[in-house]
Amino acid sequence: MTNLLSRLPTVRGSLEPERSLADLTWFRAGGPAEVLFQPADEADLAAFMTGLPADVPVTLVGLGSNLLVRDGGIRGVTIRLSQRGFGQVTPVGSNRLEVGAAVPDKKLAAAALAEGLSGFAFYHGIPGGIGGALRMNAGAHGVETRQRVVEVRGVTRQGARVTFSNAEMGYAYRHSGAPTDVVFTSCVLEGIPEDRDAIRRDMDAVAAHREASQPVRSRTGGSTFKNPDGHSAWKLVDAAGCRGLRIGGAEVSEMHCNFLINVDGATGHDLELLGETVRARVLQTSGIRLEWEIKRFGDFLPGAAIEPFLGA
Ligand SMILES: Cc1cc2nc3c(=O)[nH]c(=O)nc-3n(C[C@H](O)[C@H](O)[C@H](O)COP(=O)(O)OP(=O)(O)OC[C@H]3O[C@@H](n4cnc5c(N)ncnc54)[C@H](O)[C@@H]3O)c2cc1C
Repeated sequence: MTNLLSRLPTVRGSLEPERSLADLTWFRAGGPAEVLFQPADEADLAAFMTGLPADVPVTLVGLGSNLLVRDGGIRGVTIRLSQRGFGQVTPVGSNRLEVGAAVPDKKLAAAALAEGLSGFAFYHGIPGGIGGALRMNAGAHGVETRQRVVEVRGVTRQGARVTFSNAEMGYAYRHSGAPTDVVFTSCVLEGIPEDRDAIRRDMDAVAAHREASQPVRSRTGGSTFKNPDGHSAWKLVDAAGCRGLRIGGAEVSEMHCNFLINVDGATGHDLELLGETVRARVLQTSGIRLEWEIKRFGDFLPGAAIEPFLGA
């Protein structure tokens, strides 16, 4: 990796070279960021992007709960928003919240409860942050982020501040069509005024369902594959005989077989090889090509590349 730091603009936030990302992802695996940038606030981020040389790649990470970092690490600048600069929830009018992109989903659910707003209980069970939820259209229990979004603010790769309406976010299942180089910084979300006891009951039901059906205390990246049209990914994985399948320190969860788990010092390679093995077996048994929901960032170590579907 190069001495990238000397080419980067001065910032008020932090710039860390060769920063391990394993401790910033739920999988606890993978290589370092060449440089990790944590902006102090939106102005710091915009000034950095304006001054950043055009050839430097930029990667965004949130709370790392839907993320697999490869063992060779991520070249260029990896951006992670800090709680201090982007972690506020502010009520707006009677039924809206302005939410910083670093706010954890659970904190948003709690803030909505405090304001007596329903429609946010599903966030109580999702371990990511709002930036990731905006990008992934995170959802659960029949509700998706797109149903709450009024508008989203962000900063482009060139440093311009932009605002997207709900329609401009281009939402689909676990996907936003907004330009991939935009760092979302905050959003306005809308809920429905509701009795707090009813909201609390919804949140308790979400928490109970999670504990009973997902390996929430494990080192995992959440749902590994998107549900193909008309199918459940986990049923296809199960039918292909992959429940409990293990490669190195990585295992397909026995509890919920659309989850991969780092059970014993798994590398990024172990986890991705396991995922591609599952994809290859599902293709063989059902003819269906599963699509990764988990985002995979960074480079393979030399000589350790993994072919999609193991080359099938
Ligand atoms: C136990 C467990 C259960 C889960 N259950 C669910 C569930 O029920 N429903 C669901 O939808 N997901 C679920 N997930 C997946 C995950 O929590 C969500 O996708 C979450 O929204 C990701 O947020 P994050 O902050 O962790 O993002 P990361 O995993 O860090 O990143 C995910 C993507 O978002 C992008 N991103 C992050 N921040 C920003 C930003 N500020 N601006 C632009 N792009 C950004 C990243 O570049 C990346 O492409 C689960 C995960 C786990 C581990």
